[in-house]
Amino acid sequence: MLEELAINSKIIMGNMEYGSDLLLELNNICQTKEIFAGKIEGIGAVKCATIGFYDQEKKEYIWNKIHRPMEVLSLKGNISIKDNKPFVHAHIVLGDHNSQVYGGHLGEDTQVFAFEYIIVPLQGDAFVRGFDKKTGLFLWK
Ligand code: ZN
Repeated sequence: MLEELAINSKIIMGNMEYGSDLLLELNNICQTKEIFAGKIEGIGAVKCATIGFYDQEKKEYIWNKIHRPMEVLSLKGNISIKDNKPFVHAHIVLGDHNSQVYGGHLGEDTQVFAFEYIIVPLQGDAFVRGFDKKTGLFLWK
């Protein structure tokens, strides 16, 4: 899957409200602003986090719930279309008080303490996610 997309002149930068659900709020921003293609990055801190690892044999996510404050060292994600709506796919790298690092696929129930994001919308034919039999994932078709 390869398509030429262009950077829109508008780049969105903001900070998320304390207590927001990080993934839900990123999806919410994209829906409100009607962004169907683009990239996301961010840094900040969370009160707790849910990160996933995709088990390639079982074809399902193993979710790891972290019940303590962590730094968001890096969040990177992309925006495409799933079920006719903007869909954010993001990965997150978290650090704790000992500088131990954890990371994975960002899941719901990751509560924001503070989070600064930059969203770069892209112009062109947005990618649409569809079910992929080989992987069990919803990939760009
Ligand atoms: Zn992922």
